[in-house]
Amino acid sequence: MRRKGRVMGFAGLLGNEDLKARLTASFRAGKHSHCYILTGPEGSGKKTLAKLLSQALQCEAADAPCGRCPICRKTENGTHPDVICVDDPERKTVPVELIRQLQADAYVRPNEGNKKVYIIPRAQDMTDNAQNALLKLIEEPPSYAVFLLLTTNTEKLLPTVRSRSVELRLEPVARDQAVMWLSGKCPEHDRQTLQAAYVRCGGFLGQMLEFVKEHKELPQTEQFVSAFAANDRYELTRLWCSMEKMPRDQLYQCLSRFKQLLTDALMVRSGMPGSPEALKIGQRRTAQDLSCAAAQLQKAMEYCAANVGAGHICGHLAVSL
Ligand SMILES: [Zn+2]
Repeated sequence: MRRKGRVMGFAGLLGNEDLKARLTASFRAGKHSHCYILTGPEGSGKKTLAKLLSQALQCEAADAPCGRCPICRKTENGTHPDVICVDDPERKTVPVELIRQLQADAYVRPNEGNKKVYIIPRAQDMTDNAQNALLKLIEEPPSYAVFLLLTTNTEKLLPTVRSRSVELRLEPVARDQAVMWLSGKCPEHDRQTLQAAYVRCGGFLGQMLEFVKEHKELPQTEQFVSAFAANDRYELTRLWCSMEKMPRDQLYQCLSRFKQLLTDALMVRSGMPGSPEALKIGQRRTAQDLSCAAAQLQKAMEYCAANVGAGHICGHLAVSL
């Protein structure tokens, strides 16, 4: 439902019609769970849905979440004191201490809302101890507390946690709707790139946006990836020659992007996920090739920064890479 630019109900989440209908019906009936698991891959809309659920829980309008009242706006901006994000980006895991703090906080009544909403954005990273501490809380929660556990992998959650939660699974958005959304976000891109993003990312909007952004920058990237992956010296030399007349800041940008790709390819080799480009390189070149080339690119970037001419730098790369 869209009326003069404002978005009502769960319409802010694209696609996922069944899920939205289910949630709308239960909120209209004044019912909600005290613990939801929002599950789906990266970029599938978990955070968007968490925001809408928080609004639905806090908003006092008849058509909650109305999206226009001060409560909805505060929740949207992340300034509502009773919508609390539980994470510490510095930590690799979500440790039990964080859940203990949550536990202590949950027994303090809400500041201004009727509810207290706790969002755990990477629930799959909770340690077992953290999950067990959380379990105690969701077994007997204070009446006003609601927990939103966002995860890319429900298997990482204890069965006891899952059995006490309502699972909301995010689905990919249909092609036409996804491509239209993306063209609104990135009007400068041609339809082919937008379609490619859909094919590559399977209708998960966040991933599609990433894909398009990565492909925005450099026409040279594709040439570098295929030539370097194949160890094709002729093609590489052609690439460096084509870059000899580039302004230095543009050259620097290219070199730094190439170096980033090699670093990503090294990660791919050690079993981490990576972009299709990094995968292509990582599967075909050895770790030693990758680190040597990354070091050469680093050196070239330093030359660039020290005002060495682009011609010299590209000549150096043609012999060293
Ligand atoms: Zn509202």
